[in-house]
Amino acid sequence: MTTDEPRAQRIPPVSRRGLLGLAGAGAATILLGGCTPATRDPAADNPPATPDRCVSRGSLDEHGTLAKLPLVYEISQERASFAFDGGFHTQLGDWLGGYRERSGLTAPDQVWTYGAYVAGGSDCSSWHAAGRAFDLARLRLRGGDFVSCRYDRWRSTTGAERQRAQRRYWALAASLHLDFAYVLTYLYNATHANHIHIDNGRSGRGRSTLSTSSPSQLQAVQAICTHLWDDPVEVTGRWDSPTRRATKRVLAQIGHGGDLDDSVDAWRAFLTASVPRGAEAG
Ligand SMILES: [Zn+2]
Repeated sequence: MTTDEPRAQRIPPVSRRGLLGLAGAGAATILLGGCTPATRDPAADNPPATPDRCVSRGSLDEHGTLAKLPLVYEISQERASFAFDGGFHTQLGDWLGGYRERSGLTAPDQVWTYGAYVAGGSDCSSWHAAGRAFDLARLRLRGGDFVSCRYDRWRSTTGAERQRAQRRYWALAASLHLDFAYVLTYLYNATHANHIHIDNGRSGRGRSTLSTSSPSQLQAVQAICTHLWDDPVEVTGRWDSPTRRATKRVLAQIGHGGDLDDSVDAWRAFLTASVPRGAEAG
């Protein structure tokens, strides 16, 4: 399996005026993403972007909001705008709207991110270089963390605090997996310990379907069974017997029945029922 290859980058100097100039022509352009520029994907999991899909920043629109919520750059902790492929930005907004409806939690008021578009340069294998990838760091509410993808921060917590963070994280991931076939969490590799990567390289304009050869989807399935359904399954990233049995139990519990790989309905039923379970702790 080819893995993501994080590259350390220095944060470019960004003026406060630029960051705050969202309403006018001086909208800031932020260059960094959390897992960029080389989000290379396993062939069985996600097709890589190709040079003909990579675009220039100037061809994309800048967005300072997502589903009307302000975007905040995780590193500067200030509002900023980011370049997105228009269709992908709309899909993300639809996801956030769906999450707010399903989560059972008060709606967040800010979206914190490491970014979306990053110039591909000579290596155009990342969907970030097509403006079709997003690195989600946190959803915030009234100045506090609401759902944190900063596993690097909450992994050292214990007890109820840890359980709450974990359940909210995996409920958020479940909602993302509903709408996008390629979602990378901290289970994928260390690069994703501070954000969840989402792109529509595999699912395009459609919604997600399950591939039983997708490690990233199966890692999420296993974590969702473990943390949201209290049915511990070893995280192998494989469609193995314990995972089949655990997901069958969940589908029976929610009245759907059958196996997770029976149909796209089973996949969506499993994820849809998982999202509100993030609200049950804390
Ligand atoms: Zn990413």
